[in-house]
Amino acid sequence: MQTFEIIIQNRTGLHARPAKELVNLAKTFKSNIRIAHGAKQVNAKSLISVLTLGVEPGGQVRIEVEGEDEETAALALQALINAGLGEGVAEEKEAIPAPATPEAPVEKAPAPVAVPAMPPVATGERPFQLPQRLTRGIPAAPGFGIGPVFRLERAKLIIDETFTSANQERALLQQALDGAKGQLRQLHTQLLGQAIASEAAIFEVHLEILEDPDLLEAVYANIDKRKNAAHAWQTAIEARAKTMAALNDPLLAARAADIHDVGYRVLRLLVGTDTQDAVQLPDHPVIVLAFDLSPSDTASLDTQRVLGFCTAGGGPTAHSSIIARALGFPAVVSAGESIMQIENGTLAILDGTAGTLVIEPDPETLARAHEAQQLYQARRIAAQAASAEPAITRDGHRVEIVANIGGIADARKAHAAGAEGVGLLRTEFLFLERTSAPTENEQFEVYRDIATALAGNPVIVRTLDIGGDKPVPYITMLPEENPFLGERGIRLCLARPELLRQQVRAILRAAPYGKLRIMFPMVADLSEWRAARAVVEELRAELYTPQIELGIMIEIPAAALLADVFAAEVDFFSIGTNDLTQYTLAMDRGHPNLAGKSDGLHPAVLKLIQRTVEAAHAAGKWVGVCGELGADPQAVPILIGLGVDELSISIPAIPMVKAQVRDLTLEEARRRAQEALACATAPEVRRKAAND
Ligand code: PEP
Ligand code: MG
Repeated sequence: MQTFEIIIQNRTGLHARPAKELVNLAKTFKSNIRIAHGAKQVNAKSLISVLTLGVEPGGQVRIEVEGEDEETAALALQALINAGLGEGVAEEKEAIPAPATPEAPVEKAPAPVAVPAMPPVATGERPFQLPQRLTRGIPAAPGFGIGPVFRLERAKLIIDETFTSANQERALLQQALDGAKGQLRQLHTQLLGQAIASEAAIFEVHLEILEDPDLLEAVYANIDKRKNAAHAWQTAIEARAKTMAALNDPLLAARAADIHDVGYRVLRLLVGTDTQDAVQLPDHPVIVLAFDLSPSDTASLDTQRVLGFCTAGGGPTAHSSIIARALGFPAVVSAGESIMQIENGTLAILDGTAGTLVIEPDPETLARAHEAQQLYQARRIAAQAASAEPAITRDGHRVEIVANIGGIADARKAHAAGAEGVGLLRTEFLFLERTSAPTENEQFEVYRDIATALAGNPVIVRTLDIGGDKPVPYITMLPEENPFLGERGIRLCLARPELLRQQVRAILRAAPYGKLRIMFPMVADLSEWRAARAVVEELRAELYTPQIELGIMIEIPAAALLADVFAAEVDFFSIGTNDLTQYTLAMDRGHPNLAGKSDGLHPAVLKLIQRTVEAAHAAGKWVGVCGELGADPQAVPILIGLGVDELSISIPAIPMVKAQVRDLTLEEARRRAQEALACATAPEVRRKAAND
C-alpha cells in the first residue's frame, strides 16, 4: 500500500472542479484509493464523497492507494495535486501569482433577465388590459397560456417495505438506474438541440451522480441489510444530500438539490409511478402552478399538454426560466405562494410577457386574451417568415440587428435566424468548462470558423471577460470581497498580458477570414483602453495583419460619463446594459431579491445611454447595445429613439425584434425616448411604454 500526506494548495481546495479532476484521475487506476481529511475517509473515486470532505485550500489530506498499479497511481495523484488540480498550472508558466482564495462560484451565474419578447402592438391597438383577480409575478418567458390550472406538487411516493431477495432488489435498482440514465440522456440531447448547452450540463452532473461508486455501494449495503431497492436508494440519497447541504456552501447546496432531483427520478421508477414524464400531468392542456420547478421538471414538461407555468418562487434568470424560453413556454415566476391555493381546474390567463396570472377571468377579459394570444401567434409566425429581411422603420431608418453568441454552433444558428452579424462574441465560453487555457491555435480556429460562418458579416470579438461572476478554475485570482468590483474583464487581461496577447494574436490571424472587430470589456479608464489598443497595434505590426476596428464596451458609469473622451479614440461603442444597470443602480445582477428592481429602463441608465450615443455620434462613431435590454420589447423603441444604431441580442429574439422595428417610425421612437427620459422611475417608464 502507498500512503502519503499532502497539502491541497490550489485556489479552491477540493471544490467541485478540482475534486472532479482528482476523482477522474483516480478512476483511471485499478487500485483502491482512499482519501482522508480529519477524521473522515472516503473513496477517492466518488465525487459526492470527496466533496463532502469539504477540504479548504491549504488543508491536508492523507491518501492511501492499494492495488496492482498503486505506485503509478500514487505518483500521478501527487503530481496532479502539486500541479494545482487543474487550477493555475498554465498561469504559473506565465508567472502569475497563485495565492489561495476561497472559490468564486464555479458555475457561471445565469444570464441576466432576458425580458421576454412582447408581441409588438400595432398602432392604435391597446395592449391587453387586466382586471381585478390578478396575481403579479416576474415575466420569465413570453406568450400567453389560457386554460385550467393544475397545481404540480411532487407526489408523495409510497415506499413499502416488501423485500424480495438481494439479487432481485439489485436487479430492480439496475433497471431503474438504466431507465433514469435513458431519460437524462434524452433531456441532455433535447437541450443541446435547443442550443442551451449550459443548461444541458446539469444533466451530465445527474448522470455522474447515478454512477457514483460510493453512493451505489451504500445502496447495495442497504439492500444487503434486507432493505428493498427503493428504500435502500432513498436512504442513501437522503444521507448524501443532507451532508452536502450541511456544509453550508451555496455551491454544494446546489449539488444537494441535484442529488435530490436525480434521486427522485430513480425513486419514481422504482415505485413504478413513472412514465417518461418526470412530472405527472392531467391528459388535457393545463397551466402548471408550482412552488418551484427544477430544471429537469421544466425540460420534461410535455409541450402538448402544458400551456405555460407560473411558480411561487424562482427568478427569471433561474435555469428553469432559461429552459422555458428555449422551449417556448410562457412563464411567470416569483408569483407568491398564494398561487398554490388556487383550485385545480380553475380557468386562468397566464401572460408571460406582462408577468401576470388572471384567475377566473370574466367573458370579456377572456375574449380579449384570446385575441391577444392569436395576435401574438400570428406575429410570431410572420416575424419568423421575415427574419432574413432587414429591420427598417416605417420611415426608412435602418437598425442593425445582430446576435450575441458564445461559440461556433451559435454562429451558424445566428446566421440562419436572420442576424446581420455578431455584436458580441463572448469569448469566455472558450475558456470555461476546461482545465487549462485554450492555446492560441485553438482560439484561432474558433475565430476563423465563426468569421467564415458569418459569411462576411461583421463579428465583434470581445476579449476575455472573466472574473466577477465568471471565474475560470485555471486562472488564479486574489481573494476578492466584491468580485464584481474587482479584477475582471480588461483589468484582469491587462494584469496578465500574456493571456490578452495570445487572444489578440489569435483574433488578428483569423481576421482575414471575415470581418472581425475587437472590443474590450469593463473599461473604466482611458489608460485601460490605450493599453489594450497598444497591445493590438504592436501585434498587428508583428503579424502584418490589416487594420481592424477597435471598440469598447460601455458598462461602467465612468465610461459613459466620459464617452466624449473615449469617442475621440475608439471606432465604436457597445453598451453592456446588464453591467451598466448593475453598476449604476448598485444592484448585483444575479441577486434574486433584486431581480424585479434591477431594471435597465431606469431613467438613470437611460440618461447614461443618451450621453454615450450623443458623444459617439458627435465624433462620427456608432453605438450598439449588447445587453439583454436590447431584446426587451418595451426598451426597443426607447433605445432606437435614443439613437442606438445596432441591437445585439440573443438568437431566438431576432425575428420578433426585427418585426417590432419594422412597426415603428423613428419619429415615434424619439418621442418615446424623450418621454422615458422625463420619467422618475423605471416602473413609470414601463407604465408609459405599455400604454404607448
Ligand atoms: C453586459 O454587461 O450587458 C454584457 C453584454 O456583458 P455580459 O453580460 O457578458 O457581462
Ligand atoms: Mg458585461
